[in-house]
Amino acid sequence: MRVTTGPAERGRIRPVRAVPGPLPAIGRRHPRIGVELTIRIWSDPSRPEARLAPRTTPGSRVLSRLPLIIVAAIAFALPGAYSVPTSALTASASPAASTLAPKVYAGGDVAGAHVGSPSPSPLPGDTTPPVTVASGADARWHRTAVTVHLAASDATSAIAYTLYMVGADGVWTKGTRIVVPAPKDHANDGQHVISFYSVDVARNVEAVKTVTVKIDTTPPGFRWRDVSPTVLHRVEPVRFRFTVWEPSGTVRLAWRATDQYGYFSARRGGLEREPGTRDLQVAPRYKNHQPFKPGLYRVRLTFTDQAGNVTVTKPRAFRNYRPAQARVFRRVSGAGRRVALTFDDGGVGPWARILRTLRAYKAHATFFPLGLWVDRRLARRTVADGNAIGSHGWTHTAMTRQSYAGVRNEWLRSEAPWWTAAGVSPVPYCRPPYGDYNRTTVAASGSAGFARVVLWDVDPQDWREPGSGAIASRVLSHVHSGAIVCMHLRPQTAAALPAILRGLRARGYKAVSLPELFRAAGYR
Ligand SMILES: [Zn+2]
Repeated sequence: MRVTTGPAERGRIRPVRAVPGPLPAIGRRHPRIGVELTIRIWSDPSRPEARLAPRTTPGSRVLSRLPLIIVAAIAFALPGAYSVPTSALTASASPAASTLAPKVYAGGDVAGAHVGSPSPSPLPGDTTPPVTVASGADARWHRTAVTVHLAASDATSAIAYTLYMVGADGVWTKGTRIVVPAPKDHANDGQHVISFYSVDVARNVEAVKTVTVKIDTTPPGFRWRDVSPTVLHRVEPVRFRFTVWEPSGTVRLAWRATDQYGYFSARRGGLEREPGTRDLQVAPRYKNHQPFKPGLYRVRLTFTDQAGNVTVTKPRAFRNYRPAQARVFRRVSGAGRRVALTFDDGGVGPWARILRTLRAYKAHATFFPLGLWVDRRLARRTVADGNAIGSHGWTHTAMTRQSYAGVRNEWLRSEAPWWTAAGVSPVPYCRPPYGDYNRTTVAASGSAGFARVVLWDVDPQDWREPGSGAIASRVLSHVHSGAIVCMHLRPQTAAALPAILRGLRARGYKAVSLPELFRAAGYR
């Protein structure tokens, strides 16, 4: 008997080579390549033998024997011999076409079933193509590899194989598990179309389906534009402008504000922005809606794209110099065994030496140099090391001899060099020279945001140059919890500092900056 089978490539085992040109249109019959086989079956069951004599067209090379054996087995089981001609097989002139599905049916369309059988068919009457369902792909962007599983089912027959191809010019591959990688070098970022279909053992071919996997491993791109206003003189929102790039679309935005010393001030999340040049309004208020204490604040933005890639921006600062009710402090009670060492006036040599000593002892202090002594390099290092700064004015004038405007001018003039040198601010700490102040001094200070007028309650008179030993012993004999120690940026003071820090440590005190002292006592 002669059994003529269908297309040659249905039995291919290896991945089929790349297909030039577009995918076959779904729902259209596709040109195929025919193979004619002759199977001889002897009626003696003890000598079953099927001789396969393929007569192939040039496009076919490999034949899977499994379906043929099944066909032969069905034929063998039937009494007598049957001739089963196939429906007309069209040999394709195009070798490329041989790599495509031999027959493509529209879903549910059984017209043109693979085997037209005039008289009793040895095959089950399966004319319905399989249905393949892809799981693991969804519309979201992913920053890790995505695995797609293909599950094929068929109402009547078994599944012969499932083929898939990633991308429009990929390679048709047999399999049901596809991993779309997401390498850290962003090499696979983009949308990947996975085409797939299955074929059942009755050679019904499913129409090609597709799912899309979106890979994005690149965090949003970002650039600051501007901040306005950069100096607040009242409680008002600050507008930050920026440009954000993100190919996957809308990004989530959160912001976080800290003060100059890194203390958390406010945050907000749950915002969204479209890519482009956008802005953000930040209200300078704490969670309890009280306005931020005067001082410098930094805002960082966090952008999260749809795949979860995160960009945290560099901070942008604004100076909040809103008027506030100023208060005079000589000590800070309730701060535990902490003391604040403070250094006034100026002298770059002692200043640098004091910074080195503080760093060596892991201690912090607060610096009140006159405006003209604000050295660019030392200014940056002072704050970077965790120390605090304040204003001591510009001319070392007695503030009680100054008008309201004169006091403001002393503070504001000495504020500018800090900003230009290091992007920092002495606000809210100010120290009137000689500790000389009156009600006008305090009111004028508060009007410029200098809300903490800081005097002292331990004074070793170091400016009289009594010797470093005397300076150290005077400090250590008077120090107490919450003390503010007034010293100066002078050589003998710098020389006394190691002994002072050792002595404080021996007595169980910690030398801290003014913001640390205030924080420890419960102030913001
Ligand atoms: Zn002074």
